[in-house]
Amino acid sequence: MEVLRTDAKPNQCHRCGSSADLTRHEFGIAKVLSVKRDWSGTVGYAAASAISIALAPALGGGALVWQSPGKRTSYRVLRAELVLCGNCLDRTITFLGLGDIKLRASEYRCHPWAEKARKIGFDKYLSTDELAKLTPIRSSR
Ligand SMILES: [Zn+2]
Repeated sequence: MEVLRTDAKPNQCHRCGSSADLTRHEFGIAKVLSVKRDWSGTVGYAAASAISIALAPALGGGALVWQSPGKRTSYRVLRAELVLCGNCLDRTITFLGLGDIKLRASEYRCHPWAEKARKIGFDKYLSTDELAKLTPIRSSR
């Protein structure tokens, strides 16, 4: 799936505005459409809200299904890219200890879309790993 790069500030750290030593982190801003027990194997699909449609040309995104045993959660997901400079990233890693970079909601909220998206119900942040587990809903029916 295409990652959107309609960011107004693609070459600045979203947290501090620095343009040095930038790193990019794919993530998703998600809105939960439905959570259902998987009785029948069918997946419900909630129509996009009017506001989602209004934002769609700017933000794009698609409905995806998160599957976990016995339960399916449908999300509408905006794919985005968080830009952090080396300093801000170091601070995150140091705070969390060594190992994989695991960004928190406080980092994701630095993204220019985060506030706008939150207002229309997109209030979950999905890491690259979580995004990788999502399965697109078949929409041809
Ligand atoms: Zn920074």
